Amino acid sequence: MKTDKADTKSIAETPRKATGRKPREIVIRGIPVAPGIAIGPVYDTSEEPAEAPRRRIAEGQVEAEKQRLAEAVTLSRKQIGKLKSRLSVLPEEAQEELEPLLDAYVMMLGNSRLLRGARKRIEAELLAAETAVQDEAEAIATIILAQKDDDRAGLNRRAGEVREIARRLTRNLTATPFRSLKEVPEGAILVAEELTPADAALLDPARIAGVATEEGGADGHTAIMLRALGIPSVLGASGLTESAVRGDQAVLDGSTGFVVLRPGEKALEKAKDSLAAFARERTKLAKLRRLPAVTTDGEHVELQANLEIPAELPLIAQAGAQGIGLLRTEFLFMNREDLPDEEAQLAAYTQIVEAMAGDPVTIRVLDWGGEKDMEAQASGIAPTHAGPNPALGLRGLRLLLKRPELLEAQFAAILRVAERGPVRILLPLVTNPAEVREAREIYERVARRLRRKGVGVPEKLPDLGAMIETPGAALAADAIALEADFFAIGTNDLAMYTLAVDRAESEVAHLYDPLHPAVLRLMQFATEAALRLRMPVSVCGEMGGNPRLVPLLLGLGIRCLSMNASAIPRVKQAIRSLDISDCARFARRVMEQSDPERIQELVMSQGQVLEKS
Ligand code: PEP
Ligand code: MG
Repeated sequence: MKTDKADTKSIAETPRKATGRKPREIVIRGIPVAPGIAIGPVYDTSEEPAEAPRRRIAEGQVEAEKQRLAEAVTLSRKQIGKLKSRLSVLPEEAQEELEPLLDAYVMMLGNSRLLRGARKRIEAELLAAETAVQDEAEAIATIILAQKDDDRAGLNRRAGEVREIARRLTRNLTATPFRSLKEVPEGAILVAEELTPADAALLDPARIAGVATEEGGADGHTAIMLRALGIPSVLGASGLTESAVRGDQAVLDGSTGFVVLRPGEKALEKAKDSLAAFARERTKLAKLRRLPAVTTDGEHVELQANLEIPAELPLIAQAGAQGIGLLRTEFLFMNREDLPDEEAQLAAYTQIVEAMAGDPVTIRVLDWGGEKDMEAQASGIAPTHAGPNPALGLRGLRLLLKRPELLEAQFAAILRVAERGPVRILLPLVTNPAEVREAREIYERVARRLRRKGVGVPEKLPDLGAMIETPGAALAADAIALEADFFAIGTNDLAMYTLAVDRAESEVAHLYDPLHPAVLRLMQFATEAALRLRMPVSVCGEMGGNPRLVPLLLGLGIRCLSMNASAIPRVKQAIRSLDISDCARFARRVMEQSDPERIQELVMSQGQVLEKS
């Protein structure tokens, strides 16, 4: 998603009538970050920047300056402590977002590189404390931003955290007051140049109608916080503060990114309708949580969640998922210099399995390599030589079979967690039945070893399944089905390998089409191979979370979908409006086609019918 500011050209002024002094309706487009409609008076509040010109000190002032810095640190720690004590009144999601952030702030106010560097600059460069803090923070932020990492948003966030602490220290060093958000009147739309995550934490979602700012993007902490708080918000709206007048009426749409200042009658009416529709939709989706995913003719569909990091667990519970259909374990191996051992893995799996309270958890063993983050190369996971074409090289299950100690530790941790709740194991990037056989031999050997040690391993080992995400696996699905206990169709990689289109390469993104007949035929072949043996088969790629594709997937015989938790309510809504025999008929029609464009048309028009129903 774009995180830069929206184009200023998107500001459109619509003169009401030539009435001279009357304020005009202005439409500004920013980045939609938290859905919902807000209608209310503007309350603009800007924070005076701290006056902190670059300053040098005399040699004799070094100790006093370091003391001044120490005092600002103590004050900043107190302020963060106060914010922490507010956490318990925030919604759970907001707490989950803010707590680690505040912990990171507290760490930066301890024996951190920022403070060590600032003290050094006071001593060596004879800089005033605020100048030293700002210089050091900028130096650190530059290093962070120069890192080679595909997660640009993550790097921006980390650099932002350092700058935020520097900003707080500078305000405290210069005794510049922080803005107070307490006086924002009830029902108002808060308009500001910028909002920090700490500011966002002070907002009361029950009182504030919406938030619109000039700065900020969709992936920052502030955006995540606003989403978690459920406050309709638009960030990065260029030209906003210049045009907004306190007390004037405004309308904000957090789903489209539009902010209308001084809306005319038409815009106001439209916003009121959208507000009512949004409220109805929200109530409907919330009600769906407790309703079963069952078609109109009584066919049950299992809806599960994909999990990338444990922080998503509360979302899974809220979405009403019936278990985890794909636990990507790569998170355990990222951003560290050593390998997580069996105990560390056991602790992570235990947390997840216990949180799922009896619902099944499908744990996919490490899927390393290819386009996946290679950050841990230093840890020795990745081969020293990834080959000329990493997507086709030593990755996924191939890598694990070459490094069986990785697989053994993971199997052992999963087998040990099995007594805490139902688990299954999933093998990534299978191409060959022999690979599944080899993995199973290792699996059974690990189970025997654990039993010899007296570990309570279940008599019937948890099921061992295969990802169907290569054309080879799909076309050999009948043979692989004899070796595996279940299939999970990974449509993301299946589309990539079938069409020879890198899923992460924007230059060829227009060719990446999971609805391409070649992909659909492979899915159909694999699904039928599983169904003939009455073997469970699910779809866990992005296709599984698209409500428009539900009729096709059900029609192909799929009865289990695993997706991003947030997609579950809409997919469930689609399922509850469908009849299985209609879906089967529809799938037959689609599968008769060989033109990708015709398939797109068919599927999308069916999806639209579904959305209107
Ligand atoms: C897939 O390839 O569809 C899949 C679910 O796995 P991942 O996205 O983790 O590669
Ligand atoms: Mg995959």
